[in-house]
Amino acid sequence: MKLTMVGTGYVGLVTGVCFAETGNDVTCLDVDARKIEKLKQNICPIYEPGLTEMMERNFKAGRLNYTLDKEEAYKDAEMIFICVGTPSDEKGHTDLKYIDAAADDIASVIKTLGPNQTPKVIVVKSTVPVGTTFYVRDRIRAIVGPDIPFSVADNPEFLKEGDAIIDFMKPDRVVVGVENEEAGEKFRDLYDPFVRNGHPIYIMDVPSAEMVKYASNNFLATKISFINEMANLCEAYGADINRVREGMCSDKRVGHHFLYPGLGYGGSCFPKDTLACIMMGDKAGVTTQISNAVHGTNQRQRNLFFKKIVKHFGGEMGLNGKTIAFWGLAFKPRTDDIREAPALSLVRMAVGYGATCRGFDPVAMENVAAEMGNTISLHDDIYETAKGADALIISTDWDEFKTPDFEKLASVMNGKVIFDGRNLYRRQQMGQLGFHYYSVGRQPVMPS
Ligand code: NAD
Repeated sequence: MKLTMVGTGYVGLVTGVCFAETGNDVTCLDVDARKIEKLKQNICPIYEPGLTEMMERNFKAGRLNYTLDKEEAYKDAEMIFICVGTPSDEKGHTDLKYIDAAADDIASVIKTLGPNQTPKVIVVKSTVPVGTTFYVRDRIRAIVGPDIPFSVADNPEFLKEGDAIIDFMKPDRVVVGVENEEAGEKFRDLYDPFVRNGHPIYIMDVPSAEMVKYASNNFLATKISFINEMANLCEAYGADINRVREGMCSDKRVGHHFLYPGLGYGGSCFPKDTLACIMMGDKAGVTTQISNAVHGTNQRQRNLFFKKIVKHFGGEMGLNGKTIAFWGLAFKPRTDDIREAPALSLVRMAVGYGATCRGFDPVAMENVAAEMGNTISLHDDIYETAKGADALIISTDWDEFKTPDFEKLASVMNGKVIFDGRNLYRRQQMGQLGFHYYSVGRQPVMPS
């Protein structure tokens, strides 16, 4: 099938490359000339394990093409996948400006192809508030007039950054919302190679498909805020959240996924998708008490963690002139995505109280340098980062932070203080090693 991806970000690029892998002829369009230039040289603009090799293979096989040219991208495509960003605006509503621009571009090209063109399926893959896919249809229809044939569909994406290829190639499920059965058949053909593992393709109405994505993300966000709330109770009452989660999660009805206490969720999806549910509720007069609580708990979690740091240093003035080191700057491991990363909120707070920040992340440093400028100095390895630091913050649970050489760490630091936002270390061991050790949902440890 001839397919076009609109936007070559985390979703558009992975989707395009994976569709090319199963033999489709894929064009990836973007408005960012630097990204397209990199892609044409087979340089992957994002960090995603396994993606570069797959890009290279499909590009060489002639199944993958990158362009800035809208006409070239849209005119021959049978299906067009809109994969542009849908960030929150300053009030928390979903900002549809990239969706609008993509819809207008598509409309202007298909209008010129006339009424006898083969009808295209215009697919919204971005996460959008319920009703947006029909809004896109109506926006395009208003530009092209009544005679140009096309239909719209919604095909939410569930990949996780860091595991995106495996998630896309072997999805738990594929969800598609269509206007007619013909479009449903096209999706069955397209996704057939991906669901040979027996996992289902659910073809449904468009609003339900749009809602599946929000219901899924909001539920996962709820689990994270829930376990963080339990962690805070554990701290107040002398319990250990690690023991509590073991006891709780071995119940099959509860399960282990997304029940790790920490600094709260970040990234480009959960924060904005939770907010979008709240906004959808407000618009429709539906109370969204759970979504509101999940969002509020998440925002508070970073502040509560920062309060521990402030308290350790004897109050707000105590951080002035201190050096704080950060291990991990991306919002989670195995990605270079720093959108809504808890680490960056903590850096901003620490700098606001007069501290100097040093940081290391295995793959996100280029993005951090672009976003944060001189706010934080970046270093090439974990010990160099910790050099002279009065405290170390573990802000992302990359595997390489899990068993450091603690003696070496202590020898380069100015103070032996660790604030572990990911509960990576054993409390008793940290005390024996002579660290002040603070974590989440567990009692602090003083040097023994
Ligand atoms: P992104 O910001 O990484 O990429 C978006 C890309 O679209 C950018 O490269 C941008 O230049 C391009 N673009 C913007 N306007 C364009 C236009 N008119 N024509 C062509 N290209 C255009 O975004 P992302 O993280 O890939 O997310 C895309 C959507 O997918 C969002 O709605 C997001 O919520 C959803 N989603 C993201 C993930 C994830 O893990 N990142 C997972 C599932 C769903």
